[in-house]
Parts: sequence; C-alpha cells; structure tokens
Amino acid sequence: TTTGSTYEFQAEVKQVLDIVIHSLYTDREIFIRELVSNAADALEKMRLTQLTENEVFGAELPLEIHISTDETAGTLTIADHGIGMTRAELVENLGTIAHSGSKAFAAALKNAGKSGDATLIGQFGVGFYSAFMVAEEVKVYTHSWRNEGEHLVWSSAGVGTYSIEEAPDQARGCKIVIKLKEDATEFAKPHRVKEILGKYSNFVGFPILLNGERVNTVEAIWLKSKDEVTEEQYKEFYKFTAHAFDDPSYRLHFQADAPLVINALLFLPEQNMEAFGMGQMEPAVGLYCKKVLIDPHPKKLLPEWMRFVRGVIDSEDLPLNISRESMQDSALVRKLGEVVTKRLLKFLDKEAQDDAKKFQEFYAKFSRFFKEGVATDFANKDAIAKLLRFESSLTEKGEVIGLADYVSRMKEDQKAIYYQVAPSRSTIESGPYVEAFKSKGYEVLYLYETIDEYVVSSLREFDGKQLQAVNSNEVDLGDVTTEGEALSEEDTTTLCGWMKESLTDGVEEVRSGKRLVNSPALAITPDGEMTPQMRQMMRAMKP
Ligand code: ADP
Ligand code: MG
Repeated sequence: TTTGSTYEFQAEVKQVLDIVIHSLYTDREIFIRELVSNAADALEKMRLTQLTENEVFGAELPLEIHISTDETAGTLTIADHGIGMTRAELVENLGTIAHSGSKAFAAALKNAGKSGDATLIGQFGVGFYSAFMVAEEVKVYTHSWRNEGEHLVWSSAGVGTYSIEEAPDQARGCKIVIKLKEDATEFAKPHRVKEILGKYSNFVGFPILLNGERVNTVEAIWLKSKDEVTEEQYKEFYKFTAHAFDDPSYRLHFQADAPLVINALLFLPEQNMEAFGMGQMEPAVGLYCKKVLIDPHPKKLLPEWMRFVRGVIDSEDLPLNISRESMQDSALVRKLGEVVTKRLLKFLDKEAQDDAKKFQEFYAKFSRFFKEGVATDFANKDAIAKLLRFESSLTEKGEVIGLADYVSRMKEDQKAIYYQVAPSRSTIESGPYVEAFKSKGYEVLYLYETIDEYVVSSLREFDGKQLQAVNSNEVDLGDVTTEGEALSEEDTTTLCGWMKESLTDGVEEVRSGKRLVNSPALAITPDGEMTPQMRQMMRAMKP
C-alpha cells in the first residue's frame, strides 16, 4: 500500500523486524557481513551485466566497496557501485521477504508461535533487515544500472513503514547509511569495523576500502592447500559465501589433476533449511574458472538432490568465456560434476565409518536428500545407498545401521535383504510379518517413511543382494519351525477355500505357507501389484 512516498512493509517483514529490533542482541556485528555480502552480490551482478549490456549508467565507475565511519555523527556507511535498484526493486527487495534466511526466519517464527524461541530464531540470517539490530534509521541511496532509473533514497526506522523519495545526483549502486542506536556506536569506530571486516573481507572478490584505505587482499582459499587455511577461515568462508548462520557439519577440500584440473571446497550445512517449510533450495555450489565466478547457482553441475551442498568448484579446464547458458549443456561441466559427486560420496562414506554418531546426527536432518538421490540419481545410486540408515530388528530403538552393516551380518543361507515399511517400530514388532525372519535369525530393516518404499524399489538391490519386502510374494525363507499342531492338508484346503469365498474380491488367493511362527495369517502382495504403502502414497497424492 502507498500513501504518497510512504509504503507499508509486508506483514511478514513487520514481524521479522519486530524480533530483529526487540529480541536479537547477540552477534549484532553480523549486520556488517550481511551488508558487505549484498554489496558484493550487487557488484558481481554488475560485472556480469557489463559483459552483455552496452548501455550502463555510470559505466566508468569502479567495482568497489567503500565503507566509512563517522563517530561524531554516529553513522556507518557502506557504498557500492553495483547494479543498484529502481523504485520497483526497492519495494520488492527491501519491503517484502526476499532473502531465503528471512523466509526461514519468518517460518520459524510461525512455528515457534507465541513462545518465540529466540535462540532458534538467531540461527537464521535476516539479510538486509539485520541492519535494524543496530540502526535508529537506515537510508539507502541508489541509482540502478539502467539509464532510465531514478535517483532515489529509501529510508526507514524499521517500524511499520518506509519511504522512497527522489534524491538527486546518486552514483550507480547503493549507498547505505546507518544512523546507529545509542548502544551501538561501537560500529562507528574504525578499528572495530576493521576487526569485523578482517574475518571475511578477503573472501570478497572486490576491493574493500575503509575510510579510503584498502583492507582486503582478494584471495581464493579453495586454490590454497589445506595446511595454509585455518579452521576459522574455513568457517568464515562458509558463512560468508553460503550466507549461512550455522557451522558446517562436514567440509571437503580437495585438488585433482586428472581427469580434470579441479579445486573444490565443499561444505555440508548443519541445518536443513528445507525442513523449515520454505520450499526447495537453489543449488549453491558456485562454478569458477581460475577464480572468476561463472555461475553462483549452476543447475546442471551437481545432481539436483545435492542442492543442500555449499561451496566452490573451480576448474581451469573450463573455457573462461563459457556462458551460463552454454554451461548447461557442456560435457566438460557434466564431467566436472560427476567427478566431484563421486568424490563427495566417497568422502561421506568414510566419514560415516570413522564417526558413526556424528554422521547419524547429520543424517537425521538430511536423510530426505539421500533418499531422493537413490531414487533419482541413477549413476550414483549405489554409492548413495551406502549412506542410507535404518533401524532394524537387531538394533535398539533410535539406533540405525547402513546396508553394508546389514550385508556383513547376513546369515549364510539368507537370500535377500529384508525390510518392512510401516509407520513405527511397534507396528512392525506387534505384527505377524517379521516373526518368521526372526526365527531364522534374519535381520529385518524397519522403514518408517512412506517414501522409503519408493526408495527401496528404485534401489532394487545392494551389493548383489535383492531387497525384499517382508510382505512380498517373492520371499523364500525355506523351512520355518512353527509352533503348535499343523492342520491336515485337507483341513487346510477347506479353510483356504472358505476364506477366499468369504473375502471374495478382497484377495486374489488364500493359501497355506511357511512364513508364520505364532500368528495365524498374514497378507502378502501378489507379484506385480502395488504394495499397500504404494497405494497409500498414491491416495495421498490425489488432489
Ligand atoms: P539476499 O541478499 O539473500 O537476497 P537480503 O535481505 O540481504 O537478501 O537483500 C534483499 C535484496 O535486496 C537482495 O536480494 C537485493 O536484490 C537487494 N539488495 C540489497 N542490498 C543491495 C545492494 N547493495 N545493491 C543492490 N541490491 C541490493
Ligand atoms: Mg544478502
């Protein structure tokens, strides 16, 4: 809504700002990282725009970030000559929720309800809005790279509304002036700002000047060898480039010379942002050629299920002038993705063996991606399958094992890997299906998610062993020792006939079998029929 030049923030933004202003007091310095990262993004977009556009406003301006402090006025200014914003872009970008971190934040707010768990909320980035942790007022002076753009200033105190007015003589880009709150004047002190910038400014691909002096030397840490990079640098790099607020769970930094020259630095996050109900993540492993960013979100580089992975892949074998479009179908890029994917899967398998507990915690949050991988990434499904974890008839509740563990303890006469899909451990253990398997000493995997059915049917086998559902017609257990007295053959035939008649079309066939120990009967799925879980899934998918 508009009243003259005054606009109202979108409701979700109001909510986010309310928390930012009133409840977030720790780590306030991160607002500088957010604004510098926005400036770097805008410069990066400008660099790419200049490659294709002839008509650029202020074409001669250097791609730099200028930061200045004014202790007397109590202000901090962060300026860039990036792409800037038009009026419509100001409204869209700084008046609604654009940032993925802010979206997660807003979603978490909803979930947390009135209790408003601030510690949880603190795990999300709120991008531009984080400035309001320290600002009494924020002004954004801007001119878009488009010649027809206006000279504008956006301003707000972060409560309810903002205004956009004309402001003559703006250079291309954004100049953000923060009038600091009384308790935040430390951020107008040059040495304090320099200290904060010191943590990540070297990861910014453009010069940063603080009060006119250069503070960063642009460095690509992924091109360095491991022993030249500290733990702290890795963490800061992750946070800065991935716009992340958590610490990475795993990190893989490697160089390869064959079949391609590759320098890769990959991170697996600690938090699964998709779990907060904010839709699919964008792929976020940036593609570089000799330190030059080709595409920050390449869609065809890594398989889609790996969209939660963050980091950088740099290959000097790529042609420098490769465009994002031609990149999509480049065989070289495909090869690059394949090599890195294989490497990451191998790395994870090793990590999972070395520290099973850590992997289990990670897997608990990210299992969906691996399951999706098994079902969709044909070339890698066996390697991904090694990472799947399930409870079983031999584990405690809450303890999980991998398929390799399962295979290693299979009985000599055991023909297949057995599993049951059901909502819970108690459903499985109180049902009739697993008893015969248990009596033979065969382990049964317990699969609790509806998609598991789909995952195992995509996988079909592991390590040369078929995966069979305990209620499948194919299961062959040989002889099972049953308890109690057996019915005569004649009585069995009569009973089966009567049951078939009574159950009419509900069943295809009723017959005697050797799969029960204590229970009188069980239902199995005929060959080529959908399993009950599949049917349930189909029903759930119907509108
Ligand atoms: P994100 O950076 O994740 O998109 P932010 O909340 O940090 O989210 O910023 C929101 C949007 O505002 C950005 O996506 C961008 O479009 C715009 N923006 C912020 N800062 C700048 C800037 N310095 N120059 C141009 N656009 C900017
Ligand atoms: Mg941002």
